[in-house]
Amino acid sequence: MDKKIYIFGHKNPDTDSICSSLVSEILYKKSGISNVEARRLGNVNKETQYILDYLKIQAPELLENVEEGQEVFLVDHNEFNQSVEGIEKAKILRVTDHHRIANFETSEPLYYNAKPYGCTATILFEEFKNNGIEIEKKEAILMASSIISDTLLLKSPTTTEFDKKVLEELGRIADLDIEKYGLEMLKAGTDLDDFSEEELISLDAKALEKNGSKFVIAQVNTVSIEDVMKRGESLKTAIKSKINNDGLALFVLAITDILNSNSQIIAIGERVDAVENGFGIELENDTAFLEGVVSRKKQLLPQIDKNI
Ligand code: MG
Ligand code: MG
Ligand code: MG
Repeated sequence: MDKKIYIFGHKNPDTDSICSSLVSEILYKKSGISNVEARRLGNVNKETQYILDYLKIQAPELLENVEEGQEVFLVDHNEFNQSVEGIEKAKILRVTDHHRIANFETSEPLYYNAKPYGCTATILFEEFKNNGIEIEKKEAILMASSIISDTLLLKSPTTTEFDKKVLEELGRIADLDIEKYGLEMLKAGTDLDDFSEEELISLDAKALEKNGSKFVIAQVNTVSIEDVMKRGESLKTAIKSKINNDGLALFVLAITDILNSNSQIIAIGERVDAVENGFGIELENDTAFLEGVVSRKKQLLPQIDKNI
C-alpha cells in the first residue's frame, strides 16, 4: 500500500481547517495523488458539524501526532505552535494558507501557496480552476461554507473582491441560497450552552509568540454578546488559570457579534498594555467593547502583535 500523505488544518479546528482539508483531499485525488487523506487536529465545532450533517459526510479522522518523516500537506495555518505534535520532524510537502508566515521552517523545498484572501478555500478554488479540475456540488458546498465562516458572510474586513466572486460562483454550482444557508450555518456555531468556560476559551484559540512572550487570542461567535457576558466572571476565572498553567503574558477572548459586526473583549495578563495601546482604549473590569472589530487576523492580531 502507498504511504499516506496527511492533510490537516490548525489545532482547535475551525470550519476552514476542516473543510479545506476535505476539499484538498478531493482536489489532489482528482489531480492523481491517490494517497492523500484529510485529518483533523481536534474536535469539530458546532458550525462545522452543521455542514457535515448537511452533506451527510463524516469528519476526518483525528490525528494526535506525527512520526519522523511523515509526509504532510498543511492547510489554513503554517505556524508550528498551531500545528500537529511532531511537526518539526515531519516532511512538509505543501502549504496552502492565508495567514501571516511565522514560526515556520523546512529543511527541503516545498510547494507553498500563500494568498491574502479571506479564506483557504478561496485559494483551493483557484487551484481547481488553474488546473482545469471540475468542481462538483460537494466540494462547492465545502468551499462555500469555509468562505462564509472565515468572512462572516463576506462582512469581515478580511474579505477580498475575489472571495465575493468565488462565493457567488460556488453558490451557483451548488444551487445554494448563500444568505439563507450561511446564516443558519453561522447560527449553529453560536450555540454555546453545552460548553464549560474552559472549553469556551479554547474552542477557537490561537497560540502566538513574540520576543519570547506567549499569548493567546481566542474568539467565540454569538448573536448576543450580553448572553455570553452573563458568564463573564467565570470566563475570567478560566482565563486566569489558563494563563497560570501555560505561562502566558496575555490572553484575549473576543466575543464577536456576527449580526452587528462588533466584539466585546476580555483581556487579562501582565501585557494587557499591548491591547490598550493597540486600540487606544482602557480596559474596564478586564473588558472593552471594540466597535467594528470582527477579525483576529486583520484587526486583533496586528494591533496586539506590534505592541507586545
Ligand atoms: Mg482557520
Ligand atoms: Mg482560514
Ligand atoms: Mg476564524
